[in-house]
Amino acid sequence: MAEKKKKQYISDQTACKKNDMVTLEITDMGTEGEGIGKWNGYTLFVKDALIGDVVCACIMKTKKRYGYARLVEVITPSPYRVEPLCAVARQCGGCQLQHCSYEKQLEWKEEKVKNCLLRIGGFGVQETDLLEPVLYMEEPYYYRNKAQFPVGLNKEGELTAGFYAGRSHNIIGNTNCLIQHPCNYAIVETVLAFMREYGISPYNEKEHSGLVRHILTRVGVNTGEVMVCLVINGEGLPESREFVKRMLACPLYGLKKGQTLTMKSICLNINQEKTNVILGEKVKVLSGQSYIEDTIGGILYRISPLSFYQVNPVQTKKLYDTALEYADLKGDETVWDLYCGIGTISLFLAQKAKKVCGVEIVPQAVEDARQNAKINKMENVEFFTGAAEEVIPILYEKSGGSLRADLVVLDPPRKGCDERLLQTVVLMEPEKIVYISCDPATLARDLRYLCDRGYELRRGRPCDMFCQGRHVETVVMLSHKKPDSVINVKVEFGEGEGKVPLDNIAKRAEAYKPKERVTYKMIKEYIEVKYGFKVHTAYIAEVKRELGLPMYDAPNAVEELKQPRKHPTAEKAEAIKDALKHFEVI
Ligand code: SAH
Repeated sequence: MAEKKKKQYISDQTACKKNDMVTLEITDMGTEGEGIGKWNGYTLFVKDALIGDVVCACIMKTKKRYGYARLVEVITPSPYRVEPLCAVARQCGGCQLQHCSYEKQLEWKEEKVKNCLLRIGGFGVQETDLLEPVLYMEEPYYYRNKAQFPVGLNKEGELTAGFYAGRSHNIIGNTNCLIQHPCNYAIVETVLAFMREYGISPYNEKEHSGLVRHILTRVGVNTGEVMVCLVINGEGLPESREFVKRMLACPLYGLKKGQTLTMKSICLNINQEKTNVILGEKVKVLSGQSYIEDTIGGILYRISPLSFYQVNPVQTKKLYDTALEYADLKGDETVWDLYCGIGTISLFLAQKAKKVCGVEIVPQAVEDARQNAKINKMENVEFFTGAAEEVIPILYEKSGGSLRADLVVLDPPRKGCDERLLQTVVLMEPEKIVYISCDPATLARDLRYLCDRGYELRRGRPCDMFCQGRHVETVVMLSHKKPDSVINVKVEFGEGEGKVPLDNIAKRAEAYKPKERVTYKMIKEYIEVKYGFKVHTAYIAEVKRELGLPMYDAPNAVEELKQPRKHPTAEKAEAIKDALKHFEVI
């Protein structure tokens, strides 16, 4: 009876409330890949629903202008709907798009990049039309070369390893993930069996107790080398000899028929902090080396547990080949590869350039990069440790403003480039900039900055690095606009007729303050696209102030407020915080 009542669909009411069942057509896809539909004009976000579906959904949370609903039943499936291959695709937070055909995933990703360029970057259709078709994968499964399985207890109190459910730290047990390299299954099952047998406890996040936090694995897909690294909340692992023995006996099969893999590195990563950062800084080797090696395009790379290495080797090769094609090096160029990781792109480009300099913030990655240059016998590369936004301005200053580059490669993390870096890159006057990005929103923002300062978008291409997931990688090339003609102007500084007074210049310099990297426009756009409503600049400023974020003075700012500040509604404040989180401001 209760069940029947619950299932009564609402059709003639204009408002809905928690636990109501509604039927609606999904007409759009949100930034996280979720379905968006309107019920009586009211916007609902429905996770796991797909554009083109007609669904029955249960309202979970309502706000004034939009709400969230849980998918209960697909009434009419979308033409793009496919049966996910993975049994836990819906619960697991790893893949957001397994229920969507691969063709549609690719189309959505292309649109995502275009929309960001249009809406956030303010580019026109002639620029978005430059984008070449997405680089896709022939076999969009089993592609990941790095896995981090959290270890814990499931609801039944049993030891388990798998992946976190979306937006939570509940572990969805799964040792056979279909986007990971297949060798993970045997490794993770062996670790779990070992822990059960010797009573080794998994880490308990809430109580900050227990030992094993994560199982990190890395596979050099092209060399067949494997690393297993247990992340532990302690200094050592009991029965570690036995652990090594079992790991070495683990059957490891490659993707290609008949290929077997070799366990090259068994290590521990010490992380005793109460944090959700996965890795600590200390690594202890239990057996073999502290790294594995892999190749991309004939270059050998050494990879340590802490270093960044692209997770999809098949697509990485295509991405780097595209970057190399865009760079179009002749052999006499000086290249700066900023955010260079273990020097992957640096060495790739060094094959064709006179000199490549890389900058990277993680010291261990820089060590790997230097080692990689050595093992590949490349002498025309140099690496600098530090934040690119600090290292580059310092080097520029030290050079007395003479630091130059023919090509600058930017490959930042999701939050994009710091403005101090972009400012200096413009001063270095590279003829070309190749920007590789894993977030089209910050890419669009940074491209706008560069295109307002003499650069133009020439080529670009999305690349599907994260098949079945919502993220998209993009590579673009900008070149410096050549002036049509040059007029020589002689300017004299000082007092008197025809001279430019120096204090004017000082005043202008004083007025110039670096602009915020995440602009109010971006936040507004994000909220409008995601939530369907507008937020006022003053509200964004208010939320930022409340969070204690740095504020930049507006040119028309007044000393004292004429009216008291207005506070945004809780719904708007939440949307603003969400946007700030998305852009990694908080
Ligand atoms: N180009 C490399 C790495 C790209 S990932 C590759 O393709 O493999 C981004 C890299 O930027 C990571 O290695 C990260 O450690 C580094 N990084 C993050 N913030 C940085 C900063 N402010 N300055 C320099 N490097 C940074």
